[in-house]
Amino acid sequence: MKIYITGLPSGYDVEHLVRLFYPMAPLTLTPPADGEDCVWASKGEDGLSVLVREQGRSRTASAPLPRDDSPEFALASLAYGLLRSWTGLRPPWGKMTGVRPVRLIHDKRAAGWTAEQIDRYFLERFDCSPEKYQMARAIADLQGPILRRGAEPRAYSLYIGIPFCPSRCSYCSFVSCNLDRDRKLVQPYVDCLCRELEAIRAQADQAGLHLQTIYIGGGTPTSLSAGQLRQLMGAVRDLFPLEGLAEYTVEAGRPDCTDAEKLAVIKEYGATRISINPQTFSDQVLANIGRRHTARDILDCYAAARAAGHTDINMDLIAGLPGDTVEGFAHSLRTAIDLDPENITVHTLTLKRASRIVMEDQEDNRYADVAAMLERCGLLAQAGYRPYYLYRQKNTLQNLENVGWCKPGREGYYNIYIMEEVQTILSAGAGGSTKLVDAGGHRMQRIFNFKYPNEYIQRFDQVLERKKGVSAFYDHDLGT
Ligand code: SF4
Repeated sequence: MKIYITGLPSGYDVEHLVRLFYPMAPLTLTPPADGEDCVWASKGEDGLSVLVREQGRSRTASAPLPRDDSPEFALASLAYGLLRSWTGLRPPWGKMTGVRPVRLIHDKRAAGWTAEQIDRYFLERFDCSPEKYQMARAIADLQGPILRRGAEPRAYSLYIGIPFCPSRCSYCSFVSCNLDRDRKLVQPYVDCLCRELEAIRAQADQAGLHLQTIYIGGGTPTSLSAGQLRQLMGAVRDLFPLEGLAEYTVEAGRPDCTDAEKLAVIKEYGATRISINPQTFSDQVLANIGRRHTARDILDCYAAARAAGHTDINMDLIAGLPGDTVEGFAHSLRTAIDLDPENITVHTLTLKRASRIVMEDQEDNRYADVAAMLERCGLLAQAGYRPYYLYRQKNTLQNLENVGWCKPGREGYYNIYIMEEVQTILSAGAGGSTKLVDAGGHRMQRIFNFKYPNEYIQRFDQVLERKKGVSAFYDHDLGT
């Protein structure tokens, strides 16, 4: 199946909508040959038309040029309607390809739209399913007070990235170095990171910022040795005021590099929240994705975390992993629920070009019914969890979502702040993206660090130089 689009400057929306139905279909710049399988969408002088042709059968749809809407959205809608009837598939989010549906609700509310107008926007214009829309609306309601706190003038969060992992998961598209190969980079990396944190503290002081949350993520932060974790978290404790923080998270991540000593260090140095991420509780699926540990190791790691005194734990699961089934995923959910962590985050597998799954398995059709897996998240609601943040990514299986679930009062603030872009995030480490947001969220600017650890270390002077952009951004606010 090929996608061919004519008459539009970009065709981006049309292309993405067609991929809701044919996820791996390539875009072509030459007209398909006679009889070739294709979705052919055109905007002409007189109107819009879409043809779908598959295995010798075909169907067309046409419409006049829109008067009050963008031609791109109108053509995308025409393609959506045709493909929905042709395939019999009903995408749960309808025509909504944007990644932040909850943000859209916040924005519409801020713009003065009534509840009925927002309902119609989601349910009629985008054909969003009532279940997905109701979840997004409930999350927007829950986030209201948390976002107001995050939007306080000059509030910021600190992100620290550790781009190392004990092995590479097959679905991973992050920049993360394999410890076996790049262990010698870790110590110089931690040394640079501590110096970058000093620069960040100086910039934050100069700009009059106050810290609300800290998040040490990855990669896998527990790829560091216990000594390196002490060095890093000690620098954080010395440089930043930890009392009064809304939250301090460390992604312990994987059990194959997290032990009792590291869990004790994380606790001792002030973290209030950790993540232990099983992804699945099936040993076979863990092997399929390249993890070198078992489900038993996750249970032991979780017990060690509780023994070390951690009282706020998140566990990540992924729906749609290779070789998993609906019942297998439900088993993972039930196992996580039985452990009783404060947060359970359910991701849907995303097929990014940089991941091994896509490169090796592009045509593989074995992914189980992911929508049916996500329907099992009703188990979370029954166990007292409620959804508190939601986002989507491009190329996610069946265009589905990632949702953080939590026990009442256990929302992960940083997750909400980064997703809804209400406050400044100052980032340290390779691949870090500092996001500067002014009061009211009207002006936004990014400062990027170098992507790879060796580049970050070698060009560290430039990293420090770029950091000066933080106070410069706020000087602009003050008119200085
Ligand atoms: S643990 Fe995360 S960052 Fe590391 S390889 Fe796996 S998916 Fe990538």
